[in-house]
Amino acid sequence: MHDLIGQLKTLNASLPTRENAPALADDYSGLRILAVHAHPDDESSKGAAAAAAYVARGARYMVVSMTGGERGDILNEQVAANPRAHRDLPGLRRSEMAAAREALGIEHRWAGFVDSGLPEGDPLPPLPYGAFATLPLEQAAAPLVRLVREYRPHIILSYDEIGGYPHPDHIMSHKVAVEAFHKAGDPHAYVGEGEPWQPLKLYYDKIFSPERTLALHEHLLKTRGESPMTPWVENIAARMDSAPKHRTTTRIPSFEYFEKRDAALLSHASQVEPGGVFFAVPTEELKDVWPWEDYTLIESLVPTPAKDGGEEWCFAEGIDYSNPNLHLASYSI
Ligand SMILES: [Zn+2]
Repeated sequence: MHDLIGQLKTLNASLPTRENAPALADDYSGLRILAVHAHPDDESSKGAAAAAAYVARGARYMVVSMTGGERGDILNEQVAANPRAHRDLPGLRRSEMAAAREALGIEHRWAGFVDSGLPEGDPLPPLPYGAFATLPLEQAAAPLVRLVREYRPHIILSYDEIGGYPHPDHIMSHKVAVEAFHKAGDPHAYVGEGEPWQPLKLYYDKIFSPERTLALHEHLLKTRGESPMTPWVENIAARMDSAPKHRTTTRIPSFEYFEKRDAALLSHASQVEPGGVFFAVPTEELKDVWPWEDYTLIESLVPTPAKDGGEEWCFAEGIDYSNPNLHLASYSI
């Protein structure tokens, strides 16, 4: 355990401060990013500040929610008192998503699948019939492939193999995102779902990166004397053993947009409590403790140092996004 913590501390000590980290460019006009999420609220808890940062610099950033979040629990006591939350949770979550979209300035689509719910109990009950995570891959991925061919993103953002955390819809979202990245450019795949388009880079989100969690934990211990991440740190060896091994390759400096992230998160009032764990470190302090959002570059068809053991501080590294007629053939790779 101590070795792991020591390694993470060394890694964190090697990171720049927010002032001397490489800054984003001023203008990303022409760049298109597509973030694939399982439920409305996931886009606000994972990479929302980075989304706002790119939008503010002229990029297009679209979120696709694979499901409507119909089987989410109501996680906020205040909202539980609202009759609409019980009568029409899907409708309420659509309104919440619209508010989050406004807060971040992003574009948004619903893929139209039905939430699988998080199975609980021993033994676990089967997933509901027809729910997103029960579908054959090709059926579940088809709307996403169609969207990729229409929107033509340079970059796809997704979850890792266990979905970041093992909700069946998150794991399925991972699968369809990887499928779309590999098949949307293939004219012989998903015939009838639009003109082929090959995205250039695929990333996995790392909001739960161990180095970030440790940094937040240490900050809380130092300033408050206690931390909700203590159980996580105590079990770090087991947790890191069972987690996919993806190093952080890419950090997006996004601290100037943390208030937008907060506003988007709080828009999802049925799912997010104002005093909840997402807000364990107050925003002003978080801007110093961890001023960026973390990703792993998984696939890249363009040259970038992150492919060869290096780091990136921007999704667009290696991409000629200013060229509207961009075609993969324009790259000599
Ligand atoms: Zn989710």
